[in-house]
Amino acid sequence: MANDVEGRVRLGGRILALSRLRENAAEYATLFSRAKAEIGHAECLCRTPTLRLVIRCSRAGRYHLAGWPGEGENHDAACPFHKLAPGLSGRETYSAEAIREGDNGVSIRLDAILTRSLTEQPTSKTSAEQREGRNRRTVGLLGLLHWLWEESQLTAWHPRWRRRNWWICHARLRQQTEGCSINQDSASAALYIVPPFHRDTAEQNAAAFEAFRGRLGRHGSKEHRGLILGEIKAVSPTQYGARYVLAHHRVPLFVSSALDERVRRSYRTVFAEAATDHDARRVGLFLVEVSPKGHMVIVDMAAMLLTHLYIPADSSYEVAMANALAHHGRAFVKPVRYDGTDAVFPDFVLTDVAPHAYVEVYGIRGRESYERRKNIKQAYYQRQGAQLIEWDVADPMVDLSLPGRSGTRSRLT
Ligand SMILES: [Zn+2]
Repeated sequence: MANDVEGRVRLGGRILALSRLRENAAEYATLFSRAKAEIGHAECLCRTPTLRLVIRCSRAGRYHLAGWPGEGENHDAACPFHKLAPGLSGRETYSAEAIREGDNGVSIRLDAILTRSLTEQPTSKTSAEQREGRNRRTVGLLGLLHWLWEESQLTAWHPRWRRRNWWICHARLRQQTEGCSINQDSASAALYIVPPFHRDTAEQNAAAFEAFRGRLGRHGSKEHRGLILGEIKAVSPTQYGARYVLAHHRVPLFVSSALDERVRRSYRTVFAEAATDHDARRVGLFLVEVSPKGHMVIVDMAAMLLTHLYIPADSSYEVAMANALAHHGRAFVKPVRYDGTDAVFPDFVLTDVAPHAYVEVYGIRGRESYERRKNIKQAYYQRQGAQLIEWDVADPMVDLSLPGRSGTRSRLT
């Protein structure tokens, strides 16, 4: 059950299953507030000695636990608070004001306008220079999508988790956005994460979507846009552009030809022919407006290619690699770039060996920039003294079985 998978924590002297605390946070509010006042933190029991956890309380008075800053790497690879070492995430390219973690939760400065005042003059937009290089002061849509995925631990896989479907993704993403704000709007109001379809909750979900839609557009002196996060089921051309149909969601989203073309250029691997090979999935984060006719119109978007276990991958070859790793019972994490394009990360990090091993998938040969990147990466691993597993896609899949474990030495093709 979820209890053994999610691990246990100590809160104010009591040992509890984390899943129970998460699902019944209100019931444990007194315990949370006492532990916060008397001890100042909770403890994760995935390791001995135990590891500290931050107790946060949202402005709405809802408590939740977060990993202690800088200690994510010390947690067990299957622990919900486990994180890769610093340097293996695009998150570090942002300044503290872009993603700010406070006592009440996380506030994100998104590089897009969600609420526009119709009376005040708009302030100047983010300048190009601060978007490049280190210390970005705002997060783009892809950065937000990667942050959501990484913080919800959906970039990781552990054989103990056994399965992952949209129901699990949705629950984790919702937990993550609890008490979080985007450009000062509460994330739960500004961001609609498509809930999994179920007959029993269909009406309730339809009402929640109507509430989200009702908030968009002009209200008094303000104009609102919204964000929708969902799995892309189909994209079909229309007279003016394209129509996106999301899984578990009835209302289609429309995009203009110009934006559709730009998105296909920016997210080539996501929309390539081969993208849906190996049971791959695609997920999109859409910035939307309501048209005068009441249609949901995409103003901007970010997209991600995922394996059938919802683990991000940068190409269909990486999807094949992630599938093979999961098939061999390996625990791994996919480092994500956020908005950075120049960052050099391993394609996958194996977290079931110490020190962690790295996986590289070589798909395109002969391109100079690619070869240069490959050399940088190889030199980097050499310096780290880490094991490197390399797969050239022209060759059969390499042996991925865990060293010392027998029985899974079969080669995948
Ligand atoms: Zn832990």
